[in-house]
Amino acid sequence: MKPTVFIDRKLPREVEDYIAEHCIIDKWEGNESIPRQLLFEKLANTNGLLTAGTAIDAELLERAPHLKVVSSMSVGYNHFDLAAMKAKGIMGTNTPHVLNDTVADLALALMLGAARRVAELDRYVKDGSWKKGDGTKLFGIDVHHAKLGIIGMGRIGEAVARRARFGFDMEVSYYNRSRKPEAEEKLGVRYSELNELLAASDFVVMLAPLTAETNKLIGKKEFEMMKPSSIFINISRGQTVDEQALVEALQAGTIAAAGLDVYEKEPIETNHPFLQMANVLTLPHIGSATTQTRNDMAMLAAQNLVSALTGQTPPNLVDELSV
Ligand code: NAP
Repeated sequence: MKPTVFIDRKLPREVEDYIAEHCIIDKWEGNESIPRQLLFEKLANTNGLLTAGTAIDAELLERAPHLKVVSSMSVGYNHFDLAAMKAKGIMGTNTPHVLNDTVADLALALMLGAARRVAELDRYVKDGSWKKGDGTKLFGIDVHHAKLGIIGMGRIGEAVARRARFGFDMEVSYYNRSRKPEAEEKLGVRYSELNELLAASDFVVMLAPLTAETNKLIGKKEFEMMKPSSIFINISRGQTVDEQALVEALQAGTIAAAGLDVYEKEPIETNHPFLQMANVLTLPHIGSATTQTRNDMAMLAAQNLVSALTGQTPPNLVDELSV
């Protein structure tokens, strides 16, 4: 008999057809996230779950006694309770590589947008404020030839470094848990300790995954090390930064601006101070959100799911859950 799977988000037709060749599908078709109690009911007799950000914790696993694999359509897997999954022998997979260039493109868009005040000045033109002689009022900060510091020199970090080095002639340093000699040679990037990187960089891009070690890695002390002219970009996960400290650093002029794709709470509260700040560029967590890349991620997630349920080791089993 075919294994049973539950899909908690919309997938392209060809991806669903591929899964259906191997599995019996049940799915959630709502636009909002599936209510948790309903998800528990759906998982009572299910072998595989295809999701993106749904929290996979001990409570959910308790309600899913036949579950073998959770395939996430994301590269980050901070929504997996790895200890609970390991204890139950549940496989967990993600979708690395296929989104590197798309997310890196958005990191550059945030850098350029924050430095040249693109969203702010778009509003300025559209609301009729543009007058002759505005002059220095509209000035921004150069991206080309500036110093970029990347925190987390992984797959996406390298793609950002490549764009910055070879597209914008930037001087790139990185801080990472482990040294990356190959990236240093190939991309001409330099390893820095975190404090040194923060003090020297014109742009700091956060690209480390959210883990116990990176939770609020950047806070008040770290913003105070940065230059008053510097720009902070977060495209990893909101919780890697102390958001209140970021608000205060931007309000006090400790740093000049920020470009953000991710937040502590998503969607962001409508009364969040960021929404009133002209020096903060706010995007709605769209790092990988192009049609092509999301289709590629969906197909990779489907392949991971099917291979796990047909007796193979899925190609993107997350490291912490491999034996
Ligand atoms: P990756 O290849 O695993 O790279 C992560 C890098 O961070 C690795 O080089 C890793 O070092 C380093 N790292 C891990 N823990 C660290 C620590 N405590 N201190 C310093 N460095 C540390 O992952 P990726 O594919 O580049 O993705 C990075 C993150 O981007 C994802 O986890 C996700 O949260 C985020 N993301 C966001 C979006 C979005 O829509 N905004 C889209 C895609 C990804 P090692 O080499 O030593 O492991």
